[in-house]
Amino acid sequence: MLFAHDTECGLTATAALVNTAGPDREGLPDVAALDEFFTAHAWTGRHEHTEAELRQVRALRPRLRRLWHADTDEVVAIVNGLLRESHALPQLIRHDDEPYHLHAVPRDAPLATRMAVEAAMAMADLVRIDELSRLRICDHPDCDNVLVDLSKNRSRRFCDAGCGNRAAVTAYRARRAAQA
Ligand SMILES: [Zn+2]
Ligand SMILES: [Zn+2]
Repeated sequence: MLFAHDTECGLTATAALVNTAGPDREGLPDVAALDEFFTAHAWTGRHEHTEAELRQVRALRPRLRRLWHADTDEVVAIVNGLLRESHALPQLIRHDDEPYHLHAVPRDAPLATRMAVEAAMAMADLVRIDELSRLRICDHPDCDNVLVDLSKNRSRRFCDAGCGNRAAVTAYRARRAAQA
């Protein structure tokens, strides 16, 4: 394991949230889609199932996407801003059979606030060990999804949306065409 478990979960969940906002697709079209996302990424705590909550979560995404494009100083400004606005106060807590880990806002804070703070706390870990290069954009030419490279040898190139397979198929066809 490269980072603490909660850091890795936070980074992965943040990338997944950013990737729900594509240039020509909306991965969180309605409250039901947010419910699904909530469950898929093992979120717990307050969840309102409302349009207002959905709007807040959607509105957070562009700011989080910036983290993948920004230099270190800008990442720090975003992280500090998110922590300050959320009145973050780190506390070690235990819940749902998980070992002690950090929460910086209460479990009854709005979902978008908790998502923002989880992202900020995970990014703070990356900054502290100078590993922002782990934040990458998918290598597939038709894809602009973000990813977090948690591999030991920094070898991850493609997002979770099947781009690795698509690239392999394209390369295979190109080799076949070259042979023909
Ligand atoms: Zn927790
Ligand atoms: Zn991709």
